[in-house]
Amino acid sequence: MQGIVFDIKRFAVHDGPGIRTTVFFKGCPLKCRWCHNPESIDIHPGHFVKKIKLDGFEFDKSETIGISASVSELVELIKKDFIFMEESGGGVTFSGGEPTLQPEFLISLLKACKEEGIHTAVDTCGYVSRRTLKQILPFVDLFLFDLKQLDSEKHLEGTGQHNDVIIDNLIFLIDSGIPIHLRIPVIPGFNYSEYDMVMIIKFLKNFKGRVDQVDLLPYHTIAKNKYKRFGIINKMDDTPGLKKEDLFNFAELFRKEGFNVKIGG
Ligand code: SF4
Repeated sequence: MQGIVFDIKRFAVHDGPGIRTTVFFKGCPLKCRWCHNPESIDIHPGHFVKKIKLDGFEFDKSETIGISASVSELVELIKKDFIFMEESGGGVTFSGGEPTLQPEFLISLLKACKEEGIHTAVDTCGYVSRRTLKQILPFVDLFLFDLKQLDSEKHLEGTGQHNDVIIDNLIFLIDSGIPIHLRIPVIPGFNYSEYDMVMIIKFLKNFKGRVDQVDLLPYHTIAKNKYKRFGIINKMDDTPGLKKEDLFNFAELFRKEGFNVKIGG
């Protein structure tokens, strides 16, 4: 079984508990205007030409984003760090892009990792078919689930899709009892306001004690160079990043309502 991945990060510490290997799948059904992995959105491997300067001369160099990898190759790589994962309470995280967009590949990987005794997390935008969610659920130990905006029109404007499927899937997962870390990217001009955070808190209060952790993720500009490098229009080019301190008040609002909240991944 083969799938398309565009990056693999070993010794990751922000993609779930402990030390983890994060595998980034190519392809995403959303088009968030702040996306920090814009090269991941197209599911097919992409070819980009980048300019290289050497001794005053400029050259074009072709770069491919996304490679075909097999389940067995990836599991062998993931297993290399098993000792660190075990000692730190870590494991593997499948991220993207959106990993559920390659459902058969994801299911095979999850099954293989579970057979090896590896803790599995899936980082999802939630815009997933219910059938796929049900298929992967038995092999997932933790979901990192993005909740971006409760106002569906604003969600559409910022991500290219309404949020109804996402909210339904979140409720389905909460009801299943699976551990969930909810991830809220806080984005200027999209949800960086007390009003938007209060709306999320009001919604989450229906599920108190059933969401293990809320991560508030401040918007950052690290991907700026990628947009330039790959010639992709950056709709947020002029927007400065947020600092952790900018989210202290929001974190306090969540804490007051009894949520376990963290700023950053
Ligand atoms: S869900 Fe994540 S990967 Fe997909 S477009 Fe949005 S930010 Fe990018």
